[in-house]
Amino acid sequence: MKYFLVIAALFVCSAIKAEEKQVTSPNGKITVTISDKDGQPSYSITHNGTPFITSSPLGLVTNIGDFSKEMSLGQEVRSSVIDETYTLPNIKQSNVHYVATEAVYQFSKQEKVIYDVIFRVTDRDVAFRYKMYPQKNTLSCVIKQEATGFVLPDGSTTFLCPQSKPMGGFARTSPSYETPYRADDSMGKNGWGEGYTFPCLFRNGDKGWILISETGVDSKYCGSRLLGHENGLYTIGFPQEGEMNGNGTTSPGLALPGETPWRTITLGETLAPIVETTVAFDVVKPLYAASRKYEYGRGSWSWIIGMDGSTKYEEQLRYIDFSAAMGYQSLLVDALWDTQIGYDKIEKLAKYGTEKGVALYLWYNSNGYWNDAPQTPRGIMDNTIARRKEMKWMQSIGIRGIKVDFLGGDKQVTMQMYEDILADANEYGLLVIFHGCTLPRGWERMYPNYASSEAVLASENLHFSQGSCDNEAFNACLHPFIRNTVGSMDFGGSALNKYYNATNAPRGSRRITSDVFALATAVMFQSPVQHFALAPNNLTDAPEWAIGFMKEVPTTWDEVRFIDGYPGKYAVMARRHGDKWYIAGVSAQKETVKLKITLPMFAPGNQVRVFSDNEELQGSVKPVKVNKKQELQLTIPCNGGILIVE
Ligand code: CA
Repeated sequence: MKYFLVIAALFVCSAIKAEEKQVTSPNGKITVTISDKDGQPSYSITHNGTPFITSSPLGLVTNIGDFSKEMSLGQEVRSSVIDETYTLPNIKQSNVHYVATEAVYQFSKQEKVIYDVIFRVTDRDVAFRYKMYPQKNTLSCVIKQEATGFVLPDGSTTFLCPQSKPMGGFARTSPSYETPYRADDSMGKNGWGEGYTFPCLFRNGDKGWILISETGVDSKYCGSRLLGHENGLYTIGFPQEGEMNGNGTTSPGLALPGETPWRTITLGETLAPIVETTVAFDVVKPLYAASRKYEYGRGSWSWIIGMDGSTKYEEQLRYIDFSAAMGYQSLLVDALWDTQIGYDKIEKLAKYGTEKGVALYLWYNSNGYWNDAPQTPRGIMDNTIARRKEMKWMQSIGIRGIKVDFLGGDKQVTMQMYEDILADANEYGLLVIFHGCTLPRGWERMYPNYASSEAVLASENLHFSQGSCDNEAFNACLHPFIRNTVGSMDFGGSALNKYYNATNAPRGSRRITSDVFALATAVMFQSPVQHFALAPNNLTDAPEWAIGFMKEVPTTWDEVRFIDGYPGKYAVMARRHGDKWYIAGVSAQKETVKLKITLPMFAPGNQVRVFSDNEELQGSVKPVKVNKKQELQLTIPCNGGILIVE
């Protein structure tokens, strides 16, 4: 009897005592600790013993219960090793070998199992999501709030862009992930009052870097943002009430059992894990099969230099000829083609393009009831019946893809629309580009006909204002570490015009970056479909070496490597296409950047072409022989670039 009492006492003790479990990365350097101390589900992350995320909350508040407190962590942990390879031609790396430790932690409340938290840990990323279980006869719930948070170590600095308020900006089209970044900022702020858009970059003092984002968001959830609080805490925030003109709920509904999107944390001592991570694609799966083999590639578009007035039949003919002269595969026909060209003449253009080997992308306005953007065609992409009829017509005349603009928000109803447009477009063999839109979250793998998204202050702003031109290099030095590292970025840049107008005359906004800078960003900015901001006049008014490189630059890549850089100051990276390496860099730093870099990808004795700028930003290309140490000295002046190609 006495013996039994001791056992019982031990049992009670262990039920009250906090559980703590750990999972480590395959190389043992990253450790995640999961706990239920004081009934609060939490986790923390160290790298080589150094804290990168300190004790941070987990949990869900739902309409069937508050599962963010009074929770207990189960004894049993299901742990396994994931080792798989996949091929994805439209991201930074075509073949990915994914090795991760998966560990599943079960959380209960009052003896009832509520959810698992599933962790996947690689040598550079921690990803986790919740799997919520049915409760008796309850097979559905609404997630009112996530307790999910990220506490950054004291003294961390931030590289963030604010979420804008809903129904603001041009024709009430915001939020559309088009806000300016602040680099090296302190913690404890909350953007413009509405938090920050993913991905979010943090510098852990001199100990390393942390990128927080999310992936796997589809019609089964909403897109989220990061809300800033005191003491280094950032939490998952749901969409704002006013998005989509107030229609649709901010709280995602979940059928049970059901899984939330993945929250991802990429970390390391250098920026290499951040630039090279594939976590956004590793943890998601294709949601349907491709209906055809999709062809990516390069193209031109008149709108970026000529604006709305250039969407005319004759001008588009001229740009088809230009695309053909560049060896490009497409032409993007932008807004107002339905009235300024007309459906019949679009068919003629498509036919002419086919003869020249140039396929068309057509622009559409997504609205709809959610903004006032007047550009047409409108009222087609928001509606299943009209959309499918239109897509059938496009398929019949050989249109390659669509660019859908002005989508406003991250609510579940908006995610449903993204998914419906993508799924319908796949049935008609069309690629899809989104503009004025949210961040793609794993979509390159989830939706095989997804091409690219804007979700950045893109090239249009260079046309709109001198201030954007003045900041072009600063922004270009951020994208490889933030926006573009988690998803394809349709920037539409690499202009070789000196001025953003159709005659390249000295008026309007002036490009202050160099020609080598333009070439370097064509390599640095990753998107499998690129419509460059080049114009037919560049065939004669741009340097021959510049237009020559724009004819050879690829848009799909097999590998990426971080070389050097600091967000907002300068960036140097390498991309491989087939067996050919492209090293590209740009600088926004006042003083000329001088670097000695090692390039093991070039054999000693090999000759490479080095495109570089002098202090006056005049570019040139020179042959250079790779020395025995495979080292090269580089200089990049402010607003200039560097490019090294075999
Ligand atoms: Ca835009």
